[in-house]
Amino acid sequence: MTQHAHHTQTGPRIGIAGAGLGGVTAAGLLQRAGFDVVLFDQAPGFSRLGAGIQFGPNVLKILSHLDGLDRKLTAMSCLPDYWVSRKWDDGTVMAEIPLNAERARYGAPYITIHRGDLHQAMLDCIDPARVRWGHRLVDFTDNGHSVSLDFENGARETVDVLIGSDGINSRVREKIFGAEEAVYTGWVAHRAIIPGAAARALGADVNAKWWSPDRHIVCYYLDRDQDEFYLVTGEPGEWTDRSGQLPSSRAALKAAFEGFHPLVQGYIDATDTVTQWPLKTRDPLPVWSRGRTVLLGDACHPMKPHMAQGAAMAVEDAAVLTRCLAELGTQDLERTFAAYYAARKTRATRVQSVSNANTWLKAPEDPYWCYGDNVYDLKLGT
Ligand SMILES: Cc1cc2nc3c(=O)[nH]c(=O)nc-3n(C[C@H](O)[C@H](O)[C@H](O)COP(=O)(O)OP(=O)(O)OC[C@H]3O[C@@H](n4cnc5c(N)ncnc54)[C@H](O)[C@@H]3O)c2cc1C
Repeated sequence: MTQHAHHTQTGPRIGIAGAGLGGVTAAGLLQRAGFDVVLFDQAPGFSRLGAGIQFGPNVLKILSHLDGLDRKLTAMSCLPDYWVSRKWDDGTVMAEIPLNAERARYGAPYITIHRGDLHQAMLDCIDPARVRWGHRLVDFTDNGHSVSLDFENGARETVDVLIGSDGINSRVREKIFGAEEAVYTGWVAHRAIIPGAAARALGADVNAKWWSPDRHIVCYYLDRDQDEFYLVTGEPGEWTDRSGQLPSSRAALKAAFEGFHPLVQGYIDATDTVTQWPLKTRDPLPVWSRGRTVLLGDACHPMKPHMAQGAAMAVEDAAVLTRCLAELGTQDLERTFAAYYAARKTRATRVQSVSNANTWLKAPEDPYWCYGDNVYDLKLGT
C-alpha cells in the first residue's frame, strides 16, 4: 500500500488487542504518529454487523486526522439536521435538537451510517500488513521491559505497550483487575434495518426517538441516498443467555411496541431480520492501566447505549491515548498513562452516567458540552 509508505515504522512497538471502532482508531492514529503498530482481533476476518450507528461532531473532528476519513464518511452518510424526540402514542414533539443545523457551532458534521460501512472505511485507513485476524489474546506477561502476548492459535508476540480495546468482556481488563461479569441492566435492544423506500413512503423523520414511560425506539437513515432505515430499541427484558446477541422476530418487536404511534407500527411491519441484544454496563474503574498495559473504550467504561456515545468515547480515548504516547513518550509510562486517565476520566464517566440514565435529548437541552468538544484542544497534564 503505497499510501502508507511515508509513515515511519521505527517507533516503539504497540500491540492493540481488539479491532473494534476504538482499536481501529488507535491503530490508525498511532501508525500516523510513527509507532510500530500491530492490531489483533479474535474474529477470523472483517464481518459486516447489520446495524446502524450515530457519530457526533466530537468524533468527526478526530476522524479528520485519518487522511480525511471525516470527509469520506460525510459524503456517504445521512446528515440529519435535527434530532427529534417524540411522545410514543400521539407523536407530540418533546424536543427538537439541532444537529447539522448547527454544524458550524459544533465544529463538524453529525452522521448516521451503517456500522459495517463505517468499520470498513476505518480499517481502510490502516496498513493491512498491521492487522492480524484470528488472533484471540488469551494471556500476557509484563516483564517490566516489554509485554509478551499469547494467542489462542499458539502465536506469541512481544510489544513495548499493550492496549486493551477488546470490548465489554475484555480479557485484558480481566487479567489486570480480576474476573468480574459485566452487569446486565435488565434492558434489551432490538435492532432491524428496513428498506429506506418503506420509511420514506410512511413519511419518516430523518432521525427520531419515540419515548414511552418505560421504553423507546430510535429510527434513522443509514446513508446519503436513504436506501436503508434503522430501528434500535431499549426495553425491559430478560436475558440469561451467555451470548451477546440472539435472533428475534417482527412479532416480538410488535408485541414490545404495542400501542405505539402508527408510524412506528409501519416501521415494524416493514422489518424482516430482527435481532436482540442485552444491554450491559460496569462500574467505573479507579485506574485504566497497569505497568505497560492500558485500556480504552468498552474494555474500561461500557455503558447503556442511550446517548449514542459509547463508540464515540472509544474513539476519543484512542485519540487522547495517541496524543499522550506521542507527546509524553513511552519512557515513563506511568506518567503518560496518568495523563491519559486524567484527561479522559471525568468526561467518560459523565457520558457513561447520562447514557445509563436514558435522559439525553428527551427534553430541550444544549448538547454542546458533548458535541462541541475537541480532544485536540486538551492541555495534557504532566
Ligand atoms: C444497541 C446498541 C447501539 C449503540 N449505538 C451507538 C451509537 O449510535 N453511537 C456510539 O458511539 N456507540 C453506540 N453503541 C456503543 C458502541 O457499540 C460500543 O461502545 C463500541 O462498539 C465499543 O467499541 P470498542 O472498540 O471499545 O469495543 P468493541 O466494538 O466491542 O470491539 C472489541 C473487539 O475486540 C475483539 N476481541 C474481544 N476479545 C478479544 C481477545 N481476547 N483477543 C482479541 N480480540 C478480542 C472483538 O472481536 C471486537 O472486534 C451502541 C451499542 C449498542 C449495544
